[in-house]
Amino acid sequence: MTHSPMQPEAEPFEVYAIRYATVARRSSENFIGGDPHEEGGPLDYFVWLARNASRTFVIDTGFNAVAAGRRRREFLRSPVAGLQLLGVDAATVRDVVITHLHYDHVGNFDLFPAARFHLQDREMAYATGRFMAIGHFANAYEPDEVVAMVRSVYAGRVEFHNGDAVIAPGFSVHHIGGHTDGLQAVRIWTRVGWLVLASDASHLYANMNEHKPFPIVADVMQMAEGWRKLQSLASAPRHVIPGHDPLVMQRYPAAGPALDGIAVRLDGPARPGGRTGWVEQRTITGRPHGPQDLCKFAPNRCGTVRR
Ligand SMILES: [Zn+2]
Repeated sequence: MTHSPMQPEAEPFEVYAIRYATVARRSSENFIGGDPHEEGGPLDYFVWLARNASRTFVIDTGFNAVAAGRRRREFLRSPVAGLQLLGVDAATVRDVVITHLHYDHVGNFDLFPAARFHLQDREMAYATGRFMAIGHFANAYEPDEVVAMVRSVYAGRVEFHNGDAVIAPGFSVHHIGGHTDGLQAVRIWTRVGWLVLASDASHLYANMNEHKPFPIVADVMQMAEGWRKLQSLASAPRHVIPGHDPLVMQRYPAAGPALDGIAVRLDGPARPGGRTGWVEQRTITGRPHGPQDLCKFAPNRCGTVRR
């Protein structure tokens, strides 16, 4: 008899990554200690969509063409246009998760007039606090966007979370920190199990899999602890999706015939590959394992599996 792992009473979500921009990077821009002379491989920029019959969530809102010009990123399409290709009208979206307030995750949020924004308490405190007087911590924020989000707080449009919070059956946010003090990841129930959108808790597969921290960081220890937490939240290591890795576009199938290079579906078959092909780092055994919060947030990976 198989004791099936506990699953939420949730309809699985479809999950998509929509690519909207890209930039070339040096190794030292992707990894602490990387060689500044060595090419580091590009970063892609994504927003994500999770939907089932009852709920639609947009995760992050990307940046626009003006910001791309200012920061010298190659702008491929508006994230809003990318969502439209998947049948989602930004004007009617009711829930947007903002993983953190960096310019490449929160620009365009004015294009979601019906949305409330899900944000960690600590992210707002960090983005309006003492460390923003220091370039290292402040450079990836746009003051006007942070101020606009403060205005949204006063307009009653921000739903704050403190740590881990279930927003809908099968959909939760989890404070990670590290990259910014209030960064959150998203955990989503899908037909292949629990999928985790790491956002910038791991820009690239290599950051988390090879334990190489990304250089834009508030707290390196918290970042490293975050890699562990991401894994504990996902049904399998390959279900942790990094925030900026071009390999995501190679590993997952296009979301439709006209969406090649634009959007991929993450809750389906994937192929390992590339320099940092995923490694199964842990297996389910006959005894409880992992950190304490595993039982709370990953019941399917906690406890005894009898066969
Ligand atoms: Zn980012």
